Amino acid sequence: MPTSTFDIFRYQPDTGPEHFRQTYELEHDADLTLLDAVLRLQNEQDGTLAVRYSCRSAICGSCACRADGKTVLACMSQVEDLKAQNGGQPIKVDPIGNFEPLKDLIVDMDPFWEKFKSVKPYLVPDGPAPEKERIVSKEAMQKIYNESKCILCAACYSECNSLAADADYVGPAALAWGYRFAADERDGQRTARAKLYSGEHGVWDCTRCMYCNERCPKGVDPRDAIEKLGGIAFNEGVSWADAGARHAKAFLISMRTGGKLNETLLVPFTNPIKSQLDLPFALRMLSKGKAPSPIPHRIKKLDEVKKLMKNVKETI
Ligand code: SF4
Ligand code: SF4
Repeated sequence: MPTSTFDIFRYQPDTGPEHFRQTYELEHDADLTLLDAVLRLQNEQDGTLAVRYSCRSAICGSCACRADGKTVLACMSQVEDLKAQNGGQPIKVDPIGNFEPLKDLIVDMDPFWEKFKSVKPYLVPDGPAPEKERIVSKEAMQKIYNESKCILCAACYSECNSLAADADYVGPAALAWGYRFAADERDGQRTARAKLYSGEHGVWDCTRCMYCNERCPKGVDPRDAIEKLGGIAFNEGVSWADAGARHAKAFLISMRTGGKLNETLLVPFTNPIKSQLDLPFALRMLSKGKAPSPIPHRIKKLDEVKKLMKNVKETI
């Protein structure tokens, strides 16, 4: 029988304000999950060890935590696999990141639920209600299949760089749910949703680090959903309000007109007011050959790039 060591984050606000770490050893069968390991430690060694869980089957999403720094569902993670990955070291277990711990591995999820509610995660159909039901084709549902798999475990929030920098960022899961409804053909609020999700702390604040896609245990790919929401914002004509949206549009225009990125045009497009203040500095850089010419450079195979760009669905 293998024996494993667990180095667990502890926080017991009833007995003291300090976080500390505690090491436990456990002899166990080879097929033990991380969640079952923590529950056995709680039952057999330390009844004060707090963890949130429910289904044990990767459905409820409540046992998300960090194992050796990576966010996982504890019920989906095998102890022996974690040891194989870390070279047999003690397994470090921490609460998910970007949330305040309440007790040991349990965090305050209230901000997560507030953000989830803020995207209006429900259908708002237009027009009178049908006599029976609103029928949707399989093909239409396929478009939102990925986002419909979200179990609201918040693993993506734990890894999100934008959230680490801005606690008000709406975040990957909530935006994935936003896309799930904005792209549902039964919904009648597409323009309103595009405005709601494109504002401050929304779609355009994502840094595209891709960690949410990497760590999502259900393959939701929330970053992809955020990208598709950006496309909806373009199509619904609400893309000029935010600097992030203008930045993305400058890339698009640059590619369409020159076949490559024109960095000199990015700044005035993205932030027209600030760029005027920076004009003397920009001119000095140009005169010293330190900035590319603002006159669009056209690559030789521009026609080929334009053919590729025809596949880009956004309208400008
Ligand atoms: S998108 Fe994935 S990681 Fe994020 S809450 Fe949903 S299931 Fe969890
Ligand atoms: S890709 Fe965007 S939403 Fe996903 S983790 Fe990175 S910053 Fe957050």
